[in-house]
Amino acid sequence: MKVTAAVMPERSGRWALETLELADPGPHEVVVRTVASGICQTDVHARDGYFPLEWPAVYGHEGAGVVERVGSAVSGVAPGDHVIMANPSCGECPNCRQGLETYCYNSQRIKQSGRRLDGSSALTRGATPIAASFFQQSSFATHSLASERNVIKVPADAPLDVLAAFPCGVNTGAGAVFNILRPQPGDAFAVFGVGSVGMAGLMAAKLRGCDPVIAVDVFDGRLALARELGATHAVSAAGGDAAAEVRRIAAGRGVKFSLEAAGTPEALRAAVDALAPLGTCCLVGSARPGVTAALEMRTIQYGRAVRGCIQGDSDVKTFLPHLVELFRSGRLPVDRLVRHYDFAAINEAVADMLAGRTIKPVLRIGTA
Ligand SMILES: [Zn+2]
Ligand SMILES: [Zn+2]
Repeated sequence: MKVTAAVMPERSGRWALETLELADPGPHEVVVRTVASGICQTDVHARDGYFPLEWPAVYGHEGAGVVERVGSAVSGVAPGDHVIMANPSCGECPNCRQGLETYCYNSQRIKQSGRRLDGSSALTRGATPIAASFFQQSSFATHSLASERNVIKVPADAPLDVLAAFPCGVNTGAGAVFNILRPQPGDAFAVFGVGSVGMAGLMAAKLRGCDPVIAVDVFDGRLALARELGATHAVSAAGGDAAAEVRRIAAGRGVKFSLEAAGTPEALRAAVDALAPLGTCCLVGSARPGVTAALEMRTIQYGRAVRGCIQGDSDVKTFLPHLVELFRSGRLPVDRLVRHYDFAAINEAVADMLAGRTIKPVLRIGTA
């Protein structure tokens, strides 16, 4: 079928909308009519050539829409269902079999090879294959071909143009807190970088009863919103020693838990230096391949831990519906993070995200 997709023609170029051909669904695939798609730093990493996909390519890995067709073996969703498209996994490797799908051994091939699970192309221009199937969806298009495993049914009365923030960004930040750090009421928590991932982590820490909840960022506008969303303290990382300030706020000892959500060596160093002895830093910030960070060995020796995290360690089939319910009950106000853009304004949306003007850009691609 013919679809309109935002195509990246070359490394670090500009997106352009173009008509392409989408393949028919295989037995375990689902065609989703895309209503909205979040934009994430990972799409920009792909644009700039940090993944195996070549160009031209179609990215997007936070799709939300309505099921249009299902493959012959699909039983979990049916045409007309509202869905979000999440992190894909193989379901067969040792980690997937243990329920640790976010650490799927085949994840790079499944997310970033540009191909479907059977190795074929989902999108073509005439007879020429286009790199697609990004996270088995490529949601920067009016229709996506997803795998059955990464399509999550959501309530039909929930706004798809807000739920498009959930599959990667909100999932990652909230999952790091709910699934990994698991703080108790009264535990001191600090988040370094309050973009969409950090802000989701902050809201989750607030729900767990953390106190204080300290937000650190270089952008004053983000810090102001963090205060509105529950941060008890806001610390500017633009000047001075943010780690020392966080330790001072946290009774002079430091925090029990920190979340590194900026993806920079400086933020990781500060997020570790801000910990109390035996504290844990969870690293969710998306650094590019090859980036290294220096930590003081003696700091780590006092029982401090750094734990990496992909996609919130979450079982997407159960965790994402849980987060959607928290949103619907008003306890996880993700809509406060979102700014909407027309599909054709994708270049502007990405520029605003990278400049810190927009926390979570969501493209409006179709209507429910
Ligand atoms: Zn796997
Ligand atoms: Zn992402």
